[in-house]
Amino acid sequence: YAAKARQCGSLIYHAQLDAGSQESLSMLSELRRAVEENELRLFLQPKVDLVRRQVVGAEALVRWQHPTRGLVPPMQFIPFAEQTGFIRQLSAWVLAGAARFAHDAAAAGLNLRLSVNLSTRDLMDQDLPGKIEALMAPLQVPAQSICLEITESAIMDDPERALSTLEHLHAMGFKLSIDDFGTGYSSLAYLKRLPVDELKIDKSFVMAMERDLDDARIVRSTIELAHNLGLTVVAEGLETIKAWALLANLGCDEGQGYYICKPMPAEQFIAWVQDWQAPDPSIISAESQLA
Ligand code: C2E
Ligand code: MG
Ligand code: MG
Ligand code: MG
Repeated sequence: YAAKARQCGSLIYHAQLDAGSQESLSMLSELRRAVEENELRLFLQPKVDLVRRQVVGAEALVRWQHPTRGLVPPMQFIPFAEQTGFIRQLSAWVLAGAARFAHDAAAAGLNLRLSVNLSTRDLMDQDLPGKIEALMAPLQVPAQSICLEITESAIMDDPERALSTLEHLHAMGFKLSIDDFGTGYSSLAYLKRLPVDELKIDKSFVMAMERDLDDARIVRSTIELAHNLGLTVVAEGLETIKAWALLANLGCDEGQGYYICKPMPAEQFIAWVQDWQAPDPSIISAESQLA
């Protein structure tokens, strides 16, 4: 916390901060300015099919290019945005950017699915499906090209309401994904009822699986669970070629992580895909496979 505070001044999230405090109000006006002055940046991180070794999509991850504080990571302003309700404007900005990018990528001959993170507040907004529709219509991007990532905790905040929003979005054709799976409270009874297409294994398990057998078992069981429920499974936090080999061996469909590429400015993404040489994880010996 102290290190973060030094790094970013007042822009850090304090759990004790209430919505009406001076600090929170100035943060809110800074965020409004950020949107007006075009200070938000759309970063993308590739998602790769682990067996076919092809880039199949990208996750949109927002950053704030602050005039004096530099590039601010999302965890230092997303919580404020959620607390104040500003997240709805922020999500709309990210969604529009992702849809525009999907359109440009298609024009360049790349068929990519763009993933966008939604927060609890977004899910509680009954008008969200309509807003997304209005935003997407002029861009002529098919709904199936957009995947909406939601965390377990966002769903469990008000499961019935979340379910109704998700059903609506699913009926519109959007892909739905459960993010950070395994870290929040979730109920398998809800998981069964949710119209989701994808499950993302949280990076904490994936990053630890090579040295911790329990993490490896969690990864393996999660892949199995996802497949038994008919879901695509994605591993985040793929940091080594060994992790790639292990995950491919366990049948994990897709991966995302620093080993493939860190999130990059959206403007660089198409050139990056065109230059990317897929590594060959089969060079990793069979002895490195999980017990
Ligand atoms: P997330 O949705 O789980 O996104 C994955 C995070 O893991 C990203 O952090 C990404 O940079 C990081 N990551 C990916 N691969 C690796 C790896 O191999 N190793 C490590 N150590 N980290 C990896 P980032 O970009 O800082 O975003 C953090 C979180 O902020 C996201 O977690 C998401 O919850 C939130 N966020 C980011 N952009 C948005 C947004 O536009 N809207 C909303 N509502 N939340 C966002
Ligand atoms: Mg995500
Ligand atoms: Mg995640
Ligand atoms: Mg997250």
